[in-house]
Amino acid sequence: MNFEFTKEEQAFIERVRDFLKREAEKDYASEIMAPEREGHAQLADSEERREFCRQLGKAGFLGLTWPREYGGKELPGIYDYLVNEELASVGAPLIGKGVGIIGKTLMHHGSDKLKREFLPKILNAEVEFALGYSEPGAGSDLASMKLKAERDGDGWRLNGQKTWNTSANFADWYWLAARTDSTGPKHKGITLFMLPLDQKGITVRAIETMAAHRTNEVFFDDVWVSDDYVVGEVNKGWSYICEALDYERFALYTFGPVKLKLDALVELLKNTERNGKPLAQHEHVQRVLARLSTRVEAAKGLQRKVICAAAQGRVPTVESAMCKLCSTELGQDISNAAMDLLGPEALLSHSAPGNVGDGAWENSLRGTVVDTIGGGTSQIQKNIIARRHLQLPNPS
Ligand SMILES: Cc1cc2nc3c(=O)[nH]c(=O)nc-3n(C[C@H](O)[C@H](O)[C@H](O)COP(=O)(O)OP(=O)(O)OC[C@H]3O[C@@H](n4cnc5c(N)ncnc54)[C@H](O)[C@@H]3O)c2cc1C
Repeated sequence: MNFEFTKEEQAFIERVRDFLKREAEKDYASEIMAPEREGHAQLADSEERREFCRQLGKAGFLGLTWPREYGGKELPGIYDYLVNEELASVGAPLIGKGVGIIGKTLMHHGSDKLKREFLPKILNAEVEFALGYSEPGAGSDLASMKLKAERDGDGWRLNGQKTWNTSANFADWYWLAARTDSTGPKHKGITLFMLPLDQKGITVRAIETMAAHRTNEVFFDDVWVSDDYVVGEVNKGWSYICEALDYERFALYTFGPVKLKLDALVELLKNTERNGKPLAQHEHVQRVLARLSTRVEAAKGLQRKVICAAAQGRVPTVESAMCKLCSTELGQDISNAAMDLLGPEALLSHSAPGNVGDGAWENSLRGTVVDTIGGGTSQIQKNIIARRHLQLPNPS
């Protein structure tokens, strides 16, 4: 096994870096590149962010691994990873839901009409999506969703509620799961739809999270969607959602910010004195950092396993679960370690006098908690690993 990048991959990384250097010289750079922003750069809307994504598309960095027939470059799976990691390392928006999740699922299951309508727009960063899965009574137990879609002419009438739907306040289109059959097993009566978010009958309300980013609850009152916008087959949506979630755990959770976080902590501890010497000179501090650093390397190895699976054309279910569990919990542990090692000043925010590290660590602590929930909680990742990898029976 070779853990180094090939010459071609290294040359590609340099191309992405050159692109980012050019973007960093533009007026909007401070709006879109912020490594300290806890990886949520892509979760808020701005004209600058949209323009950056368009530039990413123009430079040919969207759809790298898509087949040529859909406008992609048919490069191995590792290239999406390489570009995403470079973006994450400067705090720029990632390649995102369109290319990373929805486009891939549409290519496998969408009708020709949906592919024709959406794939080119995704490649040109002309469309933003919100993912509509969770409901008040259906988060981890997603298959219990109740948002009702009832037959109405040559389409469906939607009534009910979703919650935690990030980007619903600014996205153009919804990627929405709804119940189309309540008579059989709960996994078998779900259908996946696409619909414009400005459709009559949709009401979006803000939920502010502890990580200072907005997500939303969304209400549906007699919202109509045509059969043309059903993804794949009616009542088969559950398997498409599971596939899309596997892509999400990989596409939206990058490893770079975890490494940056540890590097920043090490630097800060070298430059912060307690009892007349730098904190990094204390034996206990060194032991904590050594353990975290070892876990960072292990997380990197896990991420390579996801890439290998993707490169072989497999959907990386177990690998993605392990990777998300490992990297998000590690991010949280690094923030917790910062709290322990830096002391009470680490709790002070950016605007509070006497803070350490410009208040980044209390911000980080809040952000890393959220990371372990979105896209499936840590407990759910453990369940996936227990069932699918270890073949353990369902505890009842
Ligand atoms: C910031 C943020 C953004 C999000 N964005 C989106 C989005 O864009 N679209 C979307 O559809 N959803 C989104 N979500 C929702 C997210 O996927 C759910 O919050 C998550 O799946 C957990 O569901 P829940 O909140 O209903 O908690 P619950 O499922 O009620 O879980 C509560 C607790 O019980 C534990 N638990 C539940 N079931 C089990 C089990 N079987 N075994 C062990 N432990 C269990 C959970 O791990 C958790 O600790 C977002 C969430 C957050 C926080």
